[in-house]
Amino acid sequence: MNAIEVSKLSKTYPGGVEAVKGIDFEVEAGEVFGLLGPNGAGKSTTVGMLTTTIEPTSGSARLAGHDVATAPLAARRASSVVFQEPVVDRSLTGRRNLEIHGRLWAVEPHEAAARIEELAATLGLGGLIDRPAGSYSGGERRRLEIARALVSRPRVLFLDEPTVGLDPRIRAELLEVIGSLRNRTEMTVLLTTHYLDEAERLCDRVAIIHSGRIVALGAPQALLAELGRELVELRIDGNVGTALASLRERGVAGEDAFAVGSRLTLPLHDRSSRDAIAAIHELGLTGAISAREPTLDDVYLRLTGDSLAAAA
Ligand code: ADP
Repeated sequence: MNAIEVSKLSKTYPGGVEAVKGIDFEVEAGEVFGLLGPNGAGKSTTVGMLTTTIEPTSGSARLAGHDVATAPLAARRASSVVFQEPVVDRSLTGRRNLEIHGRLWAVEPHEAAARIEELAATLGLGGLIDRPAGSYSGGERRRLEIARALVSRPRVLFLDEPTVGLDPRIRAELLEVIGSLRNRTEMTVLLTTHYLDEAERLCDRVAIIHSGRIVALGAPQALLAELGRELVELRIDGNVGTALASLRERGVAGEDAFAVGSRLTLPLHDRSSRDAIAAIHELGLTGAISAREPTLDDVYLRLTGDSLAAAA
């Protein structure tokens, strides 16, 4: 059975905003799945529907087999959420916070105590667990939030923008921690992020969501492979559309070339960057040129950035 099954899921808010427009995806047990997209794409609305806080307008979603609309309590029991906003009580120790959460989820006290020890060790909270949460640094508190969500041993863990607002060092540390969770448990993780490097590093598969629709879905490597091994990027001083048209005529730019502002990105596929750059020079196009490997950012910009039609 899939851990998450989403079918034709839609949400139209009162007032008519179509935040989610009939999305479909499935996440296998044990998989780490990323929902990527710019602000306003519909990520939070999707997570809200999966975590039973937002009622779907139509379609269905199941968590560990439980329909979020018809069996919300069972769906909630099977899952746990780490919100962007902290929910731990700053005046209580880390341990107390976790104990209270365990009690709320009816975890037997003995078992809760053992889990808390284990989580403190896994999440690197050992030395802090008996200090008030208010004395923790931002990264430490985020780890406590994750521990809190794990006390009930959820089948599905939702992480909403887990590293937003953290400094780069703490962010890297937290990514290690999240990465290590997957190696230890059979838990399924669904995370939302707008950091593409994070998704590339953590996720088995990602869905790119744009204006309420899934525009790409697959393993990061598979999405990258669609752009080939190398691409050339150039800044155009003049008209981007005209430059693109002449690059296409010359056979340097394919159908999947795309523009964002004055920057033109040309996936090379079988062409060599040397030939491509020589052809660009021959066409008299001036501006900075560089060749590099594609990143998930390119996949994303191609699908959600300025369209070529708009640039032309
Ligand atoms: P994301 O999490 O990707 O930033 P959201 O799901 O928060 O996107 O928002 C998707 C769209 O739905 C946006 O246009 C947003 O303004 C709108 N929206 C979100 N919540 C509400 C609400 N409670 N009422 C009306 N519109 C909303």
